[in-house]
Amino acid sequence: MKTIGILGGMSAASTQGYYRRLCDQTRARLGGLHSPELLIRSLDFAPIAELQARGDWDAAGALLNTEAKALERGGADLLILATNTMHKLADQMMQGVTIPLLHIADATASAIRAAGYSRPGLMATAFTMEQAFYTGRLATAGLTPVIPETEDRAETHRIIYEELCKDITTPQSRAIYVEIATRLMDAGADCLILGCTEVGMLLSDDNSPLPVFDTTLIHCDSALDAALA
Ligand code: GLU
Repeated sequence: MKTIGILGGMSAASTQGYYRRLCDQTRARLGGLHSPELLIRSLDFAPIAELQARGDWDAAGALLNTEAKALERGGADLLILATNTMHKLADQMMQGVTIPLLHIADATASAIRAAGYSRPGLMATAFTMEQAFYTGRLATAGLTPVIPETEDRAETHRIIYEELCKDITTPQSRAIYVEIATRLMDAGADCLILGCTEVGMLLSDDNSPLPVFDTTLIHCDSALDAALA
């Protein structure tokens, strides 16, 4: 079994989900007392969120690059970056790193195409919904992402940073997310990308009007495929 390096803490709430999923799936696949070989680097999200808000992406990229190199030195065979948003910096992060990065958007696009969908609604941070680093990558994979309207994007983003990244879930925000997902369906989406690694705290196939593709779960499962190959 290969060692998966997880660059996480963005936020800590979702990195816990990664650990849980990877452990559950390793046990499900291998049985017995098996558990995954992991190196988890969990960063303090507060200074990183400040860099994001200031638009100082270069500094954030340099930080991710330092941490990716440390994970490689520590013995990771492959890397996953446990946040959609910070994939904006994937190229900078991987400079001088020789182990592979499993890109969260590629894993998600493959899962959507395999299931026969093509117009995914996207609920994520404003960075992920509004910048080409993510939607462009989905388009290159042959998908046509459907993005929420301005107010819905702002509300989706606000709930991520003010609540989900602090491990807070409320029935009110869950209801708002279901409404936004419903408007994406009305706008022509045929499925829904939970395009922020915390969105699965509020939405799932149990309450979404559209079939969901949870990037956290998909990312873990594809990392495990690679680790066990
Ligand atoms: N975990 C989030 C994501 O998947 C948001 C936090 C961040 O900006 O990294 O985009």
